Amino acid sequence: MKILKDYINGQWVEGTGEFIDVYNPSTGEVIAKVPVTTEDKVEEAIKAANEAFKAWKEVPLQKRVGYLFKLRDVLIERKEELAQIIATDQAKTIADARGEVDRGIQNTEVACGLPLMMRGDKIAINGDLDGEIIREPIGVVGGLAPYNFPSLIFGWFVPFALGTGNTLVYKASEQSPMFMQEIAQILEDIGIPAGVFNLINGDKPVVTQMLESKGINAMAFVGSSKVGQIVAEGCAKTNKKAMVLAGAKNTMIVAKDANLKGFADNFKNACFGAAGQRCMAAANVAVEEEIYDKVKEVMLEVAKSVKVGNAVDESTYMGPVISPGAIARIHNYIDIGLEEGCTLLLDGRNPELPEEFKNGYFIAPTILEGVTPDMRVAKEEIFGPVVTLIKIKSYKDGMKIINDSEYGNGGCLFTESAIVAQDFLRHTNSGMIGVNVGVPASMPYLPFGGTKASLMGGQYKAQITDCVEFFTKRKACTIRYYGPNEA
Ligand code: NAD
Repeated sequence: MKILKDYINGQWVEGTGEFIDVYNPSTGEVIAKVPVTTEDKVEEAIKAANEAFKAWKEVPLQKRVGYLFKLRDVLIERKEELAQIIATDQAKTIADARGEVDRGIQNTEVACGLPLMMRGDKIAINGDLDGEIIREPIGVVGGLAPYNFPSLIFGWFVPFALGTGNTLVYKASEQSPMFMQEIAQILEDIGIPAGVFNLINGDKPVVTQMLESKGINAMAFVGSSKVGQIVAEGCAKTNKKAMVLAGAKNTMIVAKDANLKGFADNFKNACFGAAGQRCMAAANVAVEEEIYDKVKEVMLEVAKSVKVGNAVDESTYMGPVISPGAIARIHNYIDIGLEEGCTLLLDGRNPELPEEFKNGYFIAPTILEGVTPDMRVAKEEIFGPVVTLIKIKSYKDGMKIINDSEYGNGGCLFTESAIVAQDFLRHTNSGMIGVNVGVPASMPYLPFGGTKASLMGGQYKAQITDCVEFFTKRKACTIRYYGPNEA
């Protein structure tokens, strides 16, 4: 079993307080223990980041970006090993984990273009007076990650924060902390100076300390809306800049002219990929009544074909969910759905698995039928492989579900009609929407983020220039020169 450590001021530091067990969700085995960073160590990390900031912000941009090129090369070299780690403690399937490492790499590659993205603006105001906007780093940034995307979130925060000249105090998720241990080592190996990147661990008390600290200038958070609200409020109290990407409940609409083969492929990935534990997963499937029976048949066939099992097994399509707590929450939502009057078209609770996985946290694809938009199961984030099937009269009713939702992360529509698609694209209040794309998660070249309760704090999104906007502050300078004094 691995005993994980903190990485503070260029040193690996052993935990001296409490530890949290880290599980392999496929087997239920404890595979590591992660420290809850003690208060004094959190303080040390913040202090080190502040000290390091003084020199790091003066390192030429080109040199900082040079580190990112090296980082990208090492990530590519070690991709398989990193993917295996994610498939073990986070337990997305190995194929999916490779894809996630790729997202971390791609975001790093985009950050290699920071010199282009960081250019300022200048305006000749009149005669000898110029106005100029320059971008500067914010200072010390606190990073808070959720359990479900250790590499993607690393890619949003680390290359952009460091490349723009900030220093970081990064808290990995206590449920999937192993990937970031490797990243800290890689950053040391490529020569990132001590104190520029600090890794701490733990849960609520560590976050509270970070939020209250005067030594942190900004917080970048990805996680649930409940915690997102705490982070946004904490940042407002201490005047920290806040990027808060939060929870979701996404609806997939199927119009009567949808291509059913296209729908089938997308449905499988969008609803059961990563066992539904994606902020861009489709959770509601709203189907126009004319095509309802056919779509239901496709959904049932596809859902039954999903191979559930050990996440590191190449032939597995869907791994477990993260924890026994997640299983309890998902089962509870199924009960709520049944109490609300829907029926189980497919019941994935307690699936049969080989003996060695009997302690894993598995639930197979589950479909609730007879769901109406006002039910809790249609409105709240279940975050598992449970899909609600909703019969609608028109795709516009599906758009209403998206627009009435408390959340606004994603949404998609299956249609072959450009007019219907255009109506959907123009009138849907969600941050990332797709036409015939089940997971319209923005690629690293587009902004990533939602609306409503899916995006809080300062409403900053992730990726590309949105990250530059967050990780830098703009300074407006007004400049005039009079020329040399007359003799
Ligand atoms: P979470 O909110 O439980 O945890 C996120 C972080 O907050 C973790 O580092 C955790 O240690 C910390 N935390 C947990 N409880 C806390 C508390 N009471 N006070 C202070 N800090 C606390 O989220 P999760 O379960 O790890 O991740 C899943 C959630 O993240 C889902 O809601 C999902 O939609 C969301 N998510 C959103 C996006 C996005 O881009 N919008 C991306 C990935 C995940």
